[in-house]
Amino acid sequence: MSSEDKNQDIEEVARQDFINNVLIDFKPGDEFYETESTRLKKYGQCLECNKIRTGRKWCRSCNAEYFRQAFSTWTSGNLEIDYFIQNSQIYATSSLTNLEWWPYDIFLDIEEIGRGGYGTVFRAKRKVQRIKGWDYLNNKLLRFEEKDFYEYNGFVYVEYVVLKTIGQSQILPKDFLNEAKRLQRWAYQSILTWGSPILQGFTKNDDTGQYYHVLEYYDKGDIRNIQNDEITWHDRIKIIYHVSKDMYNIHKAGLIHR
Ligand SMILES: [Zn+2]
Repeated sequence: MSSEDKNQDIEEVARQDFINNVLIDFKPGDEFYETESTRLKKYGQCLECNKIRTGRKWCRSCNAEYFRQAFSTWTSGNLEIDYFIQNSQIYATSSLTNLEWWPYDIFLDIEEIGRGGYGTVFRAKRKVQRIKGWDYLNNKLLRFEEKDFYEYNGFVYVEYVVLKTIGQSQILPKDFLNEAKRLQRWAYQSILTWGSPILQGFTKNDDTGQYYHVLEYYDKGDIRNIQNDEITWHDRIKIIYHVSKDMYNIHKAGLIHR
């Protein structure tokens, strides 16, 4: 078997795996199912292909094509991660469920904020924000800017992301993608609801070979006050998430939080 055939096999397995375990296509009757007419009203039609968009500024078929063309421009150095990200890019129905490979050098001010059996969690700033959609007028990718978060489905803008260790290049845990799958599933389920921390992709420190999940960080809750190791890193991030969500709602209601 040539290495190309082998790669195609891995790709096909990863694709099926992603579809079976992660992709949620909401069916009629599901709480989150949106009919074509609902989508047309909410998101409009794609200016490129005329198909009804699947999310805000998001046409799944056009964006999938764009991402496909860019597959050869990046690699994580790990086939399974590559395919996991690629699949998310092909099947994403909105920017929320789209993952990226993040070069480690875009992260600044990396600071450890938690450590335990679950791994180590860092907080970092990032020079580049995540993808928002496609700008058809200028034919380029649109990325979030600070101001967007206030108007975009009630997002709270924070200047940080979370980096959570996965493992070293040569000794990644056998089931290292399970965590990513759970997070990705949450992202699909939280399209219309507030729920869980959202996975934005993966990164790797080339100096140490350490891979990381890149997650949204919800600021204001003081993560350092949560020292109990019984609490998983999921829970920690969830706590921060809900603290800041409450704070956001307080702000929105015009009240002042001190
Ligand atoms: Zn389109």
